[in-house]
Amino acid sequence: MKVLSAQIHPYRLSLRSPIATSHGLLTERRGFLVELLDDVGKVGWGDACPIDGFGLEGLSACQNALSAGCAALVRGQRPDFSGLVGGHRPSARGALEVAFTDLSMRRQEQGFAQAFGLPVLDPPVDRLPVSGLVVGRDRREIQACAQGLMDRGHRSLKLKVADRSWSEDRIRIQELVDGLRVGVQIRLDANGGWTEDEAIQALGDLAGCPLELIEQPVAAGEVESMARLRSIASCPIAADESVVRPADLERVIDCGAADIVILKPSALGGPSTAFDMASRAAQAGLTVIVTSLLDSAIGVAAASHLAAQLPRHRPADGLATGSIFEQDLAPSIPLIDGQLSVPTGVGLGLQPDPDALEALRTGPILEFSP
Ligand SMILES: [Mg+2]
Repeated sequence: MKVLSAQIHPYRLSLRSPIATSHGLLTERRGFLVELLDDVGKVGWGDACPIDGFGLEGLSACQNALSAGCAALVRGQRPDFSGLVGGHRPSARGALEVAFTDLSMRRQEQGFAQAFGLPVLDPPVDRLPVSGLVVGRDRREIQACAQGLMDRGHRSLKLKVADRSWSEDRIRIQELVDGLRVGVQIRLDANGGWTEDEAIQALGDLAGCPLELIEQPVAAGEVESMARLRSIASCPIAADESVVRPADLERVIDCGAADIVILKPSALGGPSTAFDMASRAAQAGLTVIVTSLLDSAIGVAAASHLAAQLPRHRPADGLATGSIFEQDLAPSIPLIDGQLSVPTGVGLGLQPDPDALEALRTGPILEFSP
């Protein structure tokens, strides 16, 4: 396969409602779509959308790495993606791997996951239960959001906590619990915002609360603390920011720091690393949840193809993030009764909408040809 040309499209997605996390207030997501064109007119797409808190490169480092990678690909250099981007640039690496894989599989007229030598599941997993993110500036908006998510069939609601006092969080959690319908669970995500003492207090106060799990109660590096919290928690503990490289996963396993590991292919350097880490986690007895990086529908599509290859009957994946945006770069992936329909067809099964790509562009398209 010859990559004839490459383009980098810088974009910005505005959130419908800001998301407050302990990493800060999120009002928009900025990133780059990579477009690769081959010698028979096929096109592959990948998404790089770095975010704080996951050990990722910043926007300008990402753009530089993507530029270096695209220039090398059109010169005919074959992908060792880490080499192409010049070191640890997980967002850029992931985007190039996804774009190249999408292009290859479109050429071969096969689905995205087949690129990784995995057996075709029979029957294939075509729908993934997904959690819904509860957002809102006040109690009324939060309640309305939660009710809307349950109306749309979500059975797992996720609330970001630890960006405010525990007493405020405790009230928000109770209000959410009071409005829950039968069979719906709440998961909390502290994004590493609690100290161990604060987490101990929260876990104690929540002992009788029907929680599905708590994500990243303390800072990413504090895995020994996570292990201690796990021993007293009445719900599973999930590691998210703690696992950004394969070595991090080994440390979480060694310390017994988590019951669940959250894998974000877009933050881990792409699907091949994520597949390997998912296998390793399963081998060590950890449950895997796949989530987006609050990136565009192209990133979500790539993550959904990974999730669809994992064992069924896992907790809901975090892939229903497209609805947080005013407008996305590609047609939104259908959600039916709280389940994401994994795109079918060749490659990612999804392509950007040219009008949206133009409308959401933040700067000149960078073009690469031999
Ligand atoms: Mg998280």
